[in-house]
Amino acid sequence: MNKKELKRAWAEIHLDRLKNNISLCRERLDGRCGLICVVKANCYGHGAEGVIPAMLEAGVDFFAVSNIIEAIELRELGVTGSILILGYTPPRNAPELIRYDIIQAITEYDYAAELCGCCPTGKTVRCHIAVDTGMSRIGIRSDSVLELRDTCLRIAALGGISAEGIFTHLSVADSDKPEDIAYTRDQIELICSLKAELDGVGSGIKSVHFLNSAGAMYHIDPRSDYARLGIVLYGLKPDYSRALGLGLEPVMELKACVSQVKTVEAGVSVSYGRTFVTERETRIATVSIGYADGYPRLLSNRARVLVRGREAKIIGRVCMDQLMIDVSGVPDVREGDVVTLFGRDGGLEITADELADSYGSIGYELVCGISQRVPRIYIN
Ligand SMILES: *Cc1c(COP(=O)(O)O)cnc(C)c1O
Repeated sequence: MNKKELKRAWAEIHLDRLKNNISLCRERLDGRCGLICVVKANCYGHGAEGVIPAMLEAGVDFFAVSNIIEAIELRELGVTGSILILGYTPPRNAPELIRYDIIQAITEYDYAAELCGCCPTGKTVRCHIAVDTGMSRIGIRSDSVLELRDTCLRIAALGGISAEGIFTHLSVADSDKPEDIAYTRDQIELICSLKAELDGVGSGIKSVHFLNSAGAMYHIDPRSDYARLGIVLYGLKPDYSRALGLGLEPVMELKACVSQVKTVEAGVSVSYGRTFVTERETRIATVSIGYADGYPRLLSNRARVLVRGREAKIIGRVCMDQLMIDVSGVPDVREGDVVTLFGRDGGLEITADELADSYGSIGYELVCGISQRVPRIYIN
């Protein structure tokens, strides 16, 4: 039996909203920057098998992933355009980078040299050089633009490397605090002056890019040849406290079924640890989803869900495969009813962003964490 046939717990992936989000983002970029769709972590948990074909239909021709397995998966899904690996590839995998025509991020000169050492003679690895302008994650780092320029030139001069671009990653582009705005501007000015220096000496390095979702929303800049958009494509916020805007809509909805409904008297404890005890007669519905599906246990006794177009509260601890809700205020709940953990039901909506915020996380982590056990159901 196919897991998609099992109506137990599932994630609906609304590809119509995804495509609409892509066109809204393109309008926002307005020809100033090209679009790189960031599809790492199985398209932020939305599922490459459904999302990638929809992106191809929308005309996307440049993708970014975290590693070479994800990159090869895109080739197997029919991607013929550019694929950039934003993270680490062990140098010994240089032949695969070449075979699948993948662009690799370069972290530093020594890494580039090692890649070349593993590169079959006469072949080159396509790469974009990462520049650490303030994230302290990957990339070449220096306060001196000229020193950065010389490192880029030394990398570009390596035999087995074809340096096509440079890029950096903004660390606080989502913040509206003045000091963070200034920090972002400094990051942007550093990478842009590096690109100008490289152009000045005819380096042949063609592109520069530095805008992530928050960058494109709050620091749009035509000097970035591309915007590397992730979270906004999936309709979630780079920063929970700021409105998303543009009319972007969440693509994923998480649903599960009611497995049983029962009425218990006052004074009855619910779930592990007896952390919830009924104060009055209570109608309890058990729902077939739990933390093994990626629904966080931190939401025990905390979150609400939607059922029959109304809200209901989670009572007691979230179990591995099941959880309980109080449906005393929701008429006619019965076995088989659909419960919305996040998404829409009737006129109500719970967003992954607000749910994640309620336990100190972010929408990114919640959607990426929906486990493999949960089938993704694609809706066009
Ligand atoms: C993940 C990632 C992005 C996309 O970030 P969003 O906030 O989801 O838009 C862009 N660039 C790099 C280097 C990344 O790692």
